[in-house]
Amino acid sequence: STPPKPPADHRELATAQGLFTTSTYSPGSPLLLPNGADMFIKLTSFLRSLYPQFGFREVITPTIYKQSLWERSGHWVNYAEDMFAVRGRGATGSTAGEAGEDEEFGLKPMNCPGHCLLFASEKRSYRDLPVRFADFSPLHRNEISGALSGLTRVRRFHQDDGHIFCRPAQIEAEIKRTMEFIQLVYSDVFDLGPYRLVLSTRPTDNFIGTIAEWDAAEAQLTRALDSTGREWTLNAGDGAFYGPKIDVILRDSDGKEHQTATIQLDFQLPQRFGLSYTAPAPELEAHGAVGPDTDPELLATSGSVTPVIIHRAVLGSLERFLALLIEHYNGRYPLWLSPRPMIFLTVGQSEAELAALQRVVEQVPGNAPFADVGRRGEALLHVETDTSARGLGKKVHEAKAAGYNIIGVVGPRDAVKGTVSLEVGG
Ligand SMILES: [Zn+2]
Repeated sequence: STPPKPPADHRELATAQGLFTTSTYSPGSPLLLPNGADMFIKLTSFLRSLYPQFGFREVITPTIYKQSLWERSGHWVNYAEDMFAVRGRGATGSTAGEAGEDEEFGLKPMNCPGHCLLFASEKRSYRDLPVRFADFSPLHRNEISGALSGLTRVRRFHQDDGHIFCRPAQIEAEIKRTMEFIQLVYSDVFDLGPYRLVLSTRPTDNFIGTIAEWDAAEAQLTRALDSTGREWTLNAGDGAFYGPKIDVILRDSDGKEHQTATIQLDFQLPQRFGLSYTAPAPELEAHGAVGPDTDPELLATSGSVTPVIIHRAVLGSLERFLALLIEHYNGRYPLWLSPRPMIFLTVGQSEAELAALQRVVEQVPGNAPFADVGRRGEALLHVETDTSARGLGKKVHEAKAAGYNIIGVVGPRDAVKGTVSLEVGG
C-alpha cells in the first residue's frame, strides 16, 4: 500500500505559487502577491454575491478611532494589550478619554464599534430591523511575535465581518439564517468539513454585563443550536468578555481542527453605545414578547428599546481561510478561484502563430480590447501566455506543474485554421 501523503503546508504551496511573502519590516502582516491577491479578491467577490440573498449591506469604516471610543466599547479595559496605539499630529496622547482633542488613537482590532456608530447615525424603528452591516476592513491585533506564522498567525488580517442589529424576538431566526449561510459556503460550495458547533459561555472573570443578561443570551443560543438538528458541544467559561458565542470548528483532511466561523450574541455593546429603536409595547418588545395576542392598548404606546447585536463571520479571517483552502485543494483550485485559470502556449514563434495567439486571448472573457465596451461586464478570466522558444513538451510540463486549469496550444496549423487545442484540468 502507498504511504499516506504528508500533510500539505499552506506556506510551501503558497511560496511555490507566488501567493504571498512576509517581511521583517512588518512581522505578522502578509504581503499578498498578485496570485494571492487574485484569490483574496475572488473570495470577497463570492461573499459579496451572496450578501443580497442574506440581507447584508456592505459598509466602509475607519481604521483608527480615538481612545475614548475604545473606552466606550470596553476594549480599552479588556483588550488594550492586544491593540496598537496610534500617535501623531493632534494625537499625542496628552489628553485621555472624553473625546479630547489630543487623545491617542487605537488601530481597530474589530469593526463592531464603528458599526454601532453607523446604527446610531439614523433614527430606527422596529420596522427597519434587522439591520445587517458587512465589512471587509483590515484589522490589527498585536499578537506576540513568537506566535506569528504564514497566513494563520498574523497581526493584520481581514474578516468577512458582519453585525446584525435585531429585535430580541428576531435572535433565533437570525442565528438560524447565519447557520444556513455557513452550511451553503462550507458544504455546498467548498465541500469542507465536517465541522462541529461549540457553544462558549460566560468566563469566570473579566466579563461585562450582568449574570442575568448572560443567562438569557445563552438560553437563546442553546435554542437556536437545538433547532439546527446538528450535534453541538458546550465549552463552559470560554465566551468572549462581551457575550456567549457559537464557534464553527472545521476538521481538515488531516484531522486538524480550525476555528473559522463565529456567531456571537451581544447585549452589552448596544447599551454602551446607547443604541435604540422605537417599537410598540416597549416593555414586552425588550423581552421579545410581542405577539398576535398582545393587548392592543399596550401596542398603542410606543417607546425606546435597545437592539441586540449579533457579531458574525462566515469565513472568519480571510487569510486563515485562504490557508485552509490552499491545503484543502492542495494547490489545485476550481476554475473560479484559481489564480492561474488559463495559459496559452505557442509551438513556435512565427508571426502567424503570435497573431493567432492574440486573437484567441481576445476571445476569453474580460480579455477583449478596451474598445469592446460591450464585453467589459463579463467575468474576467486571467490569461497568461508562453511564447518562449523552448520545446512545447517542456512548456506544457511546466504549465501543468504550476497548476493552470486550462492549457491551450496554438501551433502553425491552428494559425491557418483558426483553431486552438485545449487541455482541461492539467
Ligand atoms: Zn463584532
